[in-house]
Order: sequence, then C-alpha cells, then structure tokens
Amino acid sequence: MAKCEICDDFNEDHIDNEGDDSLYESEQYKPNLYFYWHGDIEEDYDMGEYECICVSCFNGLDLQGEIKWKKVKKDID
Ligand SMILES: [Zn+2]
Repeated sequence: MAKCEICDDFNEDHIDNEGDDSLYESEQYKPNLYFYWHGDIEEDYDMGEYECICVSCFNGLDLQGEIKWKKVKKDID
C-alpha cells in the first residue's frame, strides 16, 4: 500500500491492497504521486513519526526542518 499519513492521498498500490475499485474514483487517488517510505533500503532520510508520506508532504516537512538527513548531500559549498 501507499497512502500518505498526512494528506491521505494514495496510489494504485493502496487500492490493490484494499481491493476496492471504487477508490479509483476518489479525488485522493493520485496515480503518479511519489511516496517516501520509512524503511527503504537506500533511504538517507528520517521522517520521524511517519512511515509513508507523499512527496509534497515530504517536501513540506523538509522545509520545516522535520526531515532528518542522515548524510549531507553536499559536503562542500
Ligand atoms: Zn501527503
């Protein structure tokens, strides 16, 4: 499943998981939305209390300083 814990937007994986085709009609069905997962193998971020959030909420949290990056992307300015 992939459903944002903040805004409740979801993608096809979530519909498959629920087995409810009527979810395709939902305004919150965002087939092309990217989701960030806690536990991704190559993740270099820590979303704190969240396990699955969409890219727009992720960016919002990042702007607020809520995302902890495990390594700095740019070591040299
Ligand atoms: Zn979201």
